[in-house]
Amino acid sequence: MAFDLGMIKAVYAGMAERVNAARNAVGRPLTLTEKILYAHLFDGNATQSFERGKTYVDFAPDRVAMQDATAQMALLQFMQAGKPQVAVPSTVHCDHLIQARVGADQDLQDAYTENKEVYDFLASVSNKYGIGFWKPGAGIIHQVVLENYAFPGGMMIGTDSHTPNAGGLGMVAIGVGGADAVDVMSGMAWELKFPKVIGVKLTGKMSGWTSPKDVILKVAGILTVKGGTGAIVEYFGDGAESMSCTGKGTICNMGAEIGATTSVFSYDDSMRAYLRATNREEVVEMADEVAAYLRADDEVYANPAAFYDQLIEIDLSTLEPHVNGPFTPDAAWPISQFAAVVKEHNWPSKLEVGLIGSCTNSSYEDLTRSASIAEQAVSKKLVAQAEFTITPGSELVRFTTARDGLLDTFAQMGGVVLANACGPCIGQWARHTDDPTRKNSIITSFNRNFAKRNDGNPNTHAFVASPEIVTAFAIAGDLTFNPLVDKLINTDGEEVMLDEPRGIELPPQGFAVEDAGYVAPAEDGSSVEVVVDPKSDRLQLLEGFKPWEGTDLKGLKLLIKAQGKCTTDHISMAGPWLKYRGHLDNISNNMLIGAINAFNGEANKVYNDMTRGYDTVPATARTYKAAGIGTVVVGDENYGEGSSREHAAMEPRHLGVRAVIVKSFARIHETNLKKQGMLGLTFANKADYDLIEENDTIDILGLENFTPGVPLKVVLTHKDGSQDAFMVNHTYNEGQIEWFKAGSALNLIRLQQKQSANG
Ligand code: SF4
Repeated sequence: MAFDLGMIKAVYAGMAERVNAARNAVGRPLTLTEKILYAHLFDGNATQSFERGKTYVDFAPDRVAMQDATAQMALLQFMQAGKPQVAVPSTVHCDHLIQARVGADQDLQDAYTENKEVYDFLASVSNKYGIGFWKPGAGIIHQVVLENYAFPGGMMIGTDSHTPNAGGLGMVAIGVGGADAVDVMSGMAWELKFPKVIGVKLTGKMSGWTSPKDVILKVAGILTVKGGTGAIVEYFGDGAESMSCTGKGTICNMGAEIGATTSVFSYDDSMRAYLRATNREEVVEMADEVAAYLRADDEVYANPAAFYDQLIEIDLSTLEPHVNGPFTPDAAWPISQFAAVVKEHNWPSKLEVGLIGSCTNSSYEDLTRSASIAEQAVSKKLVAQAEFTITPGSELVRFTTARDGLLDTFAQMGGVVLANACGPCIGQWARHTDDPTRKNSIITSFNRNFAKRNDGNPNTHAFVASPEIVTAFAIAGDLTFNPLVDKLINTDGEEVMLDEPRGIELPPQGFAVEDAGYVAPAEDGSSVEVVVDPKSDRLQLLEGFKPWEGTDLKGLKLLIKAQGKCTTDHISMAGPWLKYRGHLDNISNNMLIGAINAFNGEANKVYNDMTRGYDTVPATARTYKAAGIGTVVVGDENYGEGSSREHAAMEPRHLGVRAVIVKSFARIHETNLKKQGMLGLTFANKADYDLIEENDTIDILGLENFTPGVPLKVVLTHKDGSQDAFMVNHTYNEGQIEWFKAGSALNLIRLQQKQSANG
């Protein structure tokens, strides 16, 4: 069944007009990236050219996907908008909270028990607001999106960094924070700096042990973990067309590791075949009608250097399999050099676990290629020397590969099939190890391998490779083994070699599934009740923040003057706090605990004028809040850089912070503060930062005439009664000033919603 055909039809219906308008506005042939982006401008047809890497632009994505960890706060916020339904097709996927312990069935049951309240909430809120709900066990968000929702030329956002996976089906798919998802689900514009475009021309054809994964492992080595920042990577060339759609998905998925905004391939036969195999013939028919708009203009392919900001060429015929790592995905080693590198760096060569699957690499093709290696372990009398696990990306893939005997093949080799979920990829892995202090090696077909990511153990050296290479390594149990040239000794004492992997792109008998795990929302959700246990410490319904009182803000107290780097991680720490991400009050106990107090150089120790002593930042904020006193946070340069998590703006708002005054902001955080109804202000004269003293009382003046482009005034009253005053700038436009007045952007939407309902 194809979902949301009406939406796809509408996107394609407007495609030609929008792309032609863009070509006129830009005045030159367009890359595929530009076509898709200009076709999704919030304000309709392009009337101007946007400068790549410079201009901020409002977009209207076609859909939203959320995983269960990030969906919680996003949906709690969305409920605040007072809308009866989400504005664009949206889905929730229960994949991140399932812990891999013993195997799929038991692990899934345990997850249902441990996360019941979260699942119940997500299911009920999805049901109420018209959101598609994918149950625990249905699969990993990106795999499910590729199988059901992605379409060539579309644009989506997802609250997970590997959302770009859908680029394998020609979609511009971008990973975002929950606040962005709320904007799009509420019908607001979604802002993005118009990205640069990096072209990767693929020539030749892969053979033997080389697979699409090796393309991105190679690209990661070239561009490094930062090289794609602010750019969309566009793949093209005959090599791209010779590759399966799911292989393209793997490349786009792991493009997140080079910091790219996303990656994308143009529409071709492999996408047609995949769409058909996943029951979406109608999408093929519609896409074929606009096929010319689902690829870059011919002039671009003829002379790519003239149109891309950077151009990389890779010849697939000579591309070797790669192994990347440890500790970073951009340490790229061709397999022929890997054994020497392992010895040179003294990395543990004994391999303890090989893990295949995940959202990155669990297509039918991946699993058939890996199974063709596993089969040889049995037929050639080899005993796998390392533990081996398989994480199918979705129930569709699991059911089909079970039917076709692939999972049995893995079991014969000693493999353990885990639940269709993230599991070890996101650290949800109760790894059995006799000594966690021992330096040890594992290899995965996942995408990220930073220290501690998979098993929480800093001594684990995690490497990344294709599933077939991982399978071969698991059999050998030795990282200095090169399956292309080395022999292994079997149980008869004979030397044997592994033959090249053989894969099947799509299941010859078609995909099959009994229960894909999808739950459709109610047609009319108005009577559906959202389930939140008031005693829960993981979930808490939000209350709208109070609107602005209509006067200048006087008598505020300084909460903290932060010194140096203050990222969103300093403002709202991750780690163990993540379990409270659906409970604003509980997670607020981590507010600014990582920020360094400029007056004592210490973290989480600030002066509390109510108690006349030092206390933690959250406790201090709570005493001021209880006394009805607003507070101010002062910060240094680039305040709020890092991940776009909305908690970093919601927590201060919840604990009574009224204004954040800094030397400069990271733009996304500044916008998030505005959305939550706070004042994000910058010193007109950066040296005025030095005027702030520890026990200051602060007035912010000029709010009654709060106007775009007009600075506000700050008056400090120091402990000795003396005063200082200075000007602060702001970047609020008319609409954002209305957010401030209403108390938050969502308050304003709710207000407008009510007004329109009342006629
Ligand atoms: S499998 Fe890994 S990379 Fe994929 S969504 Fe889950 S945690 Fe993220």
